[in-house]
Amino acid sequence: MLELPELPVPTPAGISVFREILQHGPIARAQIARNAGLSQPAVTKATNALMAEHFVTEAPEEASTSPITSSDRGSIGRPMQPLVVNSRKFGMMGVKVISDRLYAVVVDLLGNVLSKESVAVEGKSPQKVIDSTAEIFDELYSATSLPLVGIGIGISGDIDGKRGVVRRSPILGWNDPVNLRELLEERCGLPVSVRNDVGALTVAEEIFGVGTKSRSFAIVTIGAGIGCGLYINGNLVHGAYDVAGEIGHLPLAPGNLLCTCGKRGCVETVASFSSILKSIRKNSGMPTLSFDDAVTMAKAGDPQARAAFALAGETIGKAVASVVNLVGPEQIIISGEGVENYDLFAHQVRESFAGHVFGAAQDTKISLRSHTFYDWARGAAVSVILDILRV
Ligand SMILES: [Zn+2]
Repeated sequence: MLELPELPVPTPAGISVFREILQHGPIARAQIARNAGLSQPAVTKATNALMAEHFVTEAPEEASTSPITSSDRGSIGRPMQPLVVNSRKFGMMGVKVISDRLYAVVVDLLGNVLSKESVAVEGKSPQKVIDSTAEIFDELYSATSLPLVGIGIGISGDIDGKRGVVRRSPILGWNDPVNLRELLEERCGLPVSVRNDVGALTVAEEIFGVGTKSRSFAIVTIGAGIGCGLYINGNLVHGAYDVAGEIGHLPLAPGNLLCTCGKRGCVETVASFSSILKSIRKNSGMPTLSFDDAVTMAKAGDPQARAAFALAGETIGKAVASVVNLVGPEQIIISGEGVENYDLFAHQVRESFAGHVFGAAQDTKISLRSHTFYDWARGAAVSVILDILRV
């Protein structure tokens, strides 16, 4: 296993200080101390080390947003500027794998996307995915001006993030474990972080999105699969087996249909895009119908197409209510490809959620966010930043 760069102060206090600057910079030293619950000398020790190694710099004066306090004045009276992360310190590549394509981005240390690329993957075998990732890595590596220190890869399925192993990915048809980290590290020569794709998207929201303001949220993704990333009380929830949040496999769907996971009655059997399409094809007698055509039919009022989307919406609403009843996030963000046609089942999701959520949790804020596949890839790249914060 290859090693990611270490922070100059890899102590809990040093990591907290860097994280405050990463998420809230430009930020004054006194504010860091308050947010992180640290003494001023502890903050000074960490920031001096971070500045010496160019992880952190003082913000230019015009970037300053926080008020300067007396404790931010240096010994000669010059106000000390708030601190920002040096985004140019290094970069990371992130990859999102879908059934027939890879989406990749290079981000800087502040998660800003510097370049992006997408390639078709001919075949879903692990070898094809590794070859295509290596190909896109070579292309982006030679085009970036930052030193790249790691690769994050997000894949739908049962992932062992600690070991970097994809145990199983039904969408890709991978039924046997694949040691993706080891294979990609050998091929690309950089440390590789492997995560469930929804988990990676959640990391990006944790570090640079909703998580900068909220200590508790869930992302529910609707599309090829139904997924959920959980961030509760300031922590990502992985569960003991790294599969927490698999709401697509809650047994809430009518019909006892067989799921891609091998079990029956899962949410995905009626709510994934392929299940919706399968149902409309069967009920309309049009076996070659495309998903776009099915959407067009539903929007035009075709009763069978509308019914399939309605059932998907009802079942998703139950799944979202289950998440809220179980772990109680402050807010739910609905994302994924399904957001594009959310109007086809928004009403059913809302009604079904209201019909199953318990008590005061009916006030849970639910919002839509359209994430592109490049945003998912960015999540995989930001996962590498999170791994650096945990060294
Ligand atoms: Zn299932």
